[in-house]
Amino acid sequence: EPGDSSETLFERVIAREIPADIVHETATTLAFRDISPQAVTHVLVVPKTRYRTVAELAAADPALLADMVDTAAKVAELEGLGNGYRLVFNTGADAGQTVFHVHAHVLGGEQLGHFGR
Ligand code: 5GP
Repeated sequence: EPGDSSETLFERVIAREIPADIVHETATTLAFRDISPQAVTHVLVVPKTRYRTVAELAAADPALLADMVDTAAKVAELEGLGNGYRLVFNTGADAGQTVFHVHAHVLGGEQLGHFGR
């Protein structure tokens, strides 16, 4: 819910109030498996501090965005994605963003199609 400061699902995952299959954790980020995987490997990377979108995060704290990208690379290493992976930031309603706590989708483990609908 853009414009809304209420808690999202991912704050509850970070607080361990909702169970998640955690793949990796750093001081500033958490990586856990998507509940509805869209690829053989589908992991979400979130910052522990909430920003609604990647654009807001980039403007407010670029180092934290870099931490997210580093965590995604670590996830790719842990998951054996040496042939490559995709990072997706859905931004806003038309992109299908449903959780307004910025998250990167790490997708891989198979040959991915190009930007389908
Ligand atoms: P978005 O559509 O906002 O880019 O991505 C939100 C993602 O969160 C979706 O891929 C959805 O499957 C995932 N998701 C929704 N609820 C849960 C949950 O309770 N646990 C986990 N691990 N993922 C969830």
